[in-house]
Amino acid sequence: MKNGVVIVGAGHAGVQAAASLREEGYDGPVILIGDENEPPYHKPPLSKTFIKDADAKPQPLRGEAFYSGNAIDYRPGVWIDRIDGGERRLDVSGGGTIAFDRLVLATGSRPRLLKLDGAELAGVVSLRSLADARLIRELSAQSEEVVILGGGFIGLEIAATHVRQRLEAMGVRLLTGTTVARLEGEGGRVSAAITSSGERLPAQLVIIGIGVVPNVELAEAAGIAIANGIRVDQHMQSSIPEILAVGDAASYRHWFTGGDVRLESVQNATDQARLAARTIVGHAEPFAAVPWFWSDIGDMKLQMVGLTQGGDSHVVLGEPAENRFSIYHYAGNRLLGIESVNRPADHMLGRKMLGAGFSPAPHTVAAGPDALKAALAAFSQDEPARASA
Ligand SMILES: Cc1cc2nc3c(=O)[nH]c(=O)nc-3n(C[C@H](O)[C@H](O)[C@H](O)COP(=O)(O)OP(=O)(O)OC[C@H]3O[C@@H](n4cnc5c(N)ncnc54)[C@H](O)[C@@H]3O)c2cc1C
Repeated sequence: MKNGVVIVGAGHAGVQAAASLREEGYDGPVILIGDENEPPYHKPPLSKTFIKDADAKPQPLRGEAFYSGNAIDYRPGVWIDRIDGGERRLDVSGGGTIAFDRLVLATGSRPRLLKLDGAELAGVVSLRSLADARLIRELSAQSEEVVILGGGFIGLEIAATHVRQRLEAMGVRLLTGTTVARLEGEGGRVSAAITSSGERLPAQLVIIGIGVVPNVELAEAAGIAIANGIRVDQHMQSSIPEILAVGDAASYRHWFTGGDVRLESVQNATDQARLAARTIVGHAEPFAAVPWFWSDIGDMKLQMVGLTQGGDSHVVLGEPAENRFSIYHYAGNRLLGIESVNRPADHMLGRKMLGAGFSPAPHTVAAGPDALKAALAAFSQDEPARASA
C-alpha cells in the first residue's frame, strides 16, 4: 500500500487504530489527522478531575515518543473537508490533499446544540474537548451558581432516587421532569435559567449536557451509508469497504442485542479500532466485545456492562442505602446488563458472565456473588469453548 492508511480523528479511537496497525505488523505509512492543536488526550478525566482542579494537566493518550517511535505521522490542527472516495484522496481545509489506500474515520461526536432563547450567551457551554474543559474551569472559578442541563449518566433510571440523595448531600439540587424554557442574560453573559414552570434558577455558568450527535457529515457527503452514525459491518467497513469507521461515529448491528447501536465509550472506541486494524492487515474478525462503561460521580463509582435497554425486570444485590449495590436487568429470563455502584467485583463477574454467553436465572443472582461464581463455573465446564471465547 503506497499511500498507506490515513486516520481522520485523533481521539481514543484514532490513536488506538494507529497503535494497533503497528502492533499488527503493518509497516506502510500511517497518517493520523486531528483538528485539535493538542497531543491526543484522555477525555474521561476532563469531567472528573480536570475541571475542578486548576493545576490538573491533560493526560496524553500516548507519550510523544509513541508517534515518532512508531513512524506515525501525527498532524494536529488539520481539518479534513472532503473525501474523494473514487480517487482515494482527502481535501484539507485551507488547501492541499492527502492520498490514502485505506481510510479510517474516527471523527467521534459533538455536543447536541441547545435550541433555546439565550443559548448564545457567554457562560453557556458544553463539554467535549480539552478547550471546553479549560473554559469551564475558568468560568466556574468566577461563578457562584451553576446550572447543568441534561441528566447524563444519571439516566441510570432505577438508581435515580439513590443518586438524587447522594447528589443532594453534595449540595446539588436535582430537578427531574422539568425542562428549561429559556436562558436570561445581563450584559451578554448568562444570569439565569428559567424552567417551564417559571422557576428562575440563577446561574453564571450553564453547562449543556443533552447528549451528542455523531460526526458523519464528511462520510455522508462522500456517499457513505449513514444510519445514526457511519454504518459499518462487523469488520468496521463502511459501505465503501476501503473506508472504515470506528468509535462514537460508527453505528453497527451489535451481536449482543441483535439491534443497531452506536455506543459512546472509551472501551467501544478502542475495541473497534483494534478490530479495524486487524481488518486492514487481512486478519478480519467479527466484533464480539461485551459493551462496558464506567464513570465517577462524587463518591459513586458507576460501572455498566451489557446493554440494558428493553429490560422488563431487575434484581438488586447489595444496599443502595450504603452506596454499594448492583442492578441486574432482565428481559424475561435473559440477563441484559448490570449497573453497579461501588461494587466493582459484581461488574467484573458480570463481564465474565456476559462474555461467556451465560445468563444466570434471577434467583441465582438473588442468592449472591458466591452462587453466581459457582453457576458460572458449572456453565464454563459444560460449554468450555464458549466460555473462553
Ligand atoms: C467529558 C467527557 C467524559 C467522558 N467520560 C467517559 C467515561 O467516564 N467513560 C467512558 O467510557 N467514556 C467517557 N466519555 C466518552 C468517550 O470519551 C468517547 O466515547 C470517546 O472519546 C470516543 O472516541 P472517538 O475517538 O470515537 O471520538 P473523539 O474522542 O470525539 O475524537 C474524535 C476526534 O476527531 C476530530 N475530528 C472530527 N472530524 C474531523 C475532521 N473532519 N477533520 C479532523 N478532525 C476531525 C474531533 O475534533 C475529535 O478530536 C467521555 C466523554 C467526554 C467528552
